Amino acid sequence: MIANYHTHTFRCNHATGTEREYIEHAILGGLEVLGFADHAPMPFEGEYYSGFRMKLQETEDYVCTLRSLQKEYAKDIRILIGFEAEYYPAVFPRFLEFIEPYDIDYLLLGQHALYNEEGAPMCGAPTEDPRLLSQYIAQVKEGLSTGKFLYHAHPDMMRFVGDPQEYQKQMTDYCRFCKERNIPLEINLLGLMDNRWYPNKNFWEIAGAVGNCGIIGCDAHRADVLSNMQLHSQGEQWAKNFAIPLLSNLL
Ligand SMILES: [Zn+2]
Ligand SMILES: [Zn+2]
Repeated sequence: MIANYHTHTFRCNHATGTEREYIEHAILGGLEVLGFADHAPMPFEGEYYSGFRMKLQETEDYVCTLRSLQKEYAKDIRILIGFEAEYYPAVFPRFLEFIEPYDIDYLLLGQHALYNEEGAPMCGAPTEDPRLLSQYIAQVKEGLSTGKFLYHAHPDMMRFVGDPQEYQKQMTDYCRFCKERNIPLEINLLGLMDNRWYPNKNFWEIAGAVGNCGIIGCDAHRADVLSNMQLHSQGEQWAKNFAIPLLSNLL
């Protein structure tokens, strides 16, 4: 593994450690590219704000801190600055406007909730409702169609526990959509490490059959996963098991 684009910071309220610790571990782990993509600030309408993302007013510090470390570590590692963002149709244009002045390097699509988040189902809440699965797929397709995202992080985040044939049908359609557009799908090491419902074997079987490209994302919420070679090779093994060709250097 030589590049990881999925790294968080303490600003999302559920990651620990300093940026410097993440960078040091990435170097230790032999990474040549380390992309930070913390949970994006989101200019929601009204009073609502989510607890799992940085506040709007923290954006400046996030970007400035990383810019300065980027210079300091220029000889050792290439640091990139991005965000992991959902596609929320009502918020997205305002979001793009908000981040525009920061001139960031990339966005990852990481869809954690449906619709516009406020009052909407979380993607990780188990559901048997095929309409919620359809909504997820329609929404991530629309997001990816904006051309603003580098890849789809944990594409198998939607926790559908209903009819397997329905899952097969809808996800095959989704994987074909990504294949036609050369959109890489992420094998998420956080999910692998924590034994979460993703990476989902059924999803990756479909992706393998469709012929999608994959990329490994650490989804680091603590620094040591960046130097955890055993975990990295677990991700590579996952790709092998499902015949997913891995991309490594996207930027
Ligand atoms: Zn997170
Ligand atoms: Zn993440």
